[in-house]
Amino acid sequence: MTGGKEKWSFQEIWEVKAPQTVKIFGYLLLQNRILTRDVLRRRHISCPTECVLCSTGEQETAMHLFFQCEYARRVWLMAGGRFGYHLITIDQDVRTSWRRSWNRFKSRGLHVSKFISACFVSICWHIWLQRNNLIFRDNKIPPEIIAVRALDVGRMWAENC
Ligand SMILES: [Zn+2]
Repeated sequence: MTGGKEKWSFQEIWEVKAPQTVKIFGYLLLQNRILTRDVLRRRHISCPTECVLCSTGEQETAMHLFFQCEYARRVWLMAGGRFGYHLITIDQDVRTSWRRSWNRFKSRGLHVSKFISACFVSICWHIWLQRNNLIFRDNKIPPEIIAVRALDVGRMWAENC
C-alpha cells in the first residue's frame, strides 16, 4: 500500500476558509475536472495543447499548470519564501501532491494550518485566474506579483471567511 492514497477524501476542502466558489474550484481540481486544455480535448473541444503560462510547449494538464510549470513553481517558491515555509510537496499527481502538502502543514497546529490551507487554495485559484487572464485578455503578470496577491487574499479569507 502507498499510504492510503485512495482512502484520502476531499472533504477537507469544504472546511477551508475561502469563498464557496473557490472551494468548488478546489474540489474540482482534486478530481481533475478543471477545464484545462487536456480535459477540453478529451471532451472533443478543439483548442491548443500547450501551457500558456510558460510557453515551453508543455501540455497543459492540471498537474503541469498548478504545480510543475515554471511559472507556477515561481509562484509557490515566492509565496513559500514570504512564509518562511515550503508550501508544496510535488508528487505523482495533483491529488497526491495536495494530500502530501496538506498532511505536512496540518501537523503545525490548527491555527497555522487554517491559514496555510487558505493560502494554498488561494495560490491555486490565482494561478488559474492568471492562466485565464492570459488566454482571454493577453494580460501577463509576473509570478512574483501573483504570489503576493494570492497570499494577501488567502490571509483575508483566513480572517474573514
Ligand atoms: Zn507551463
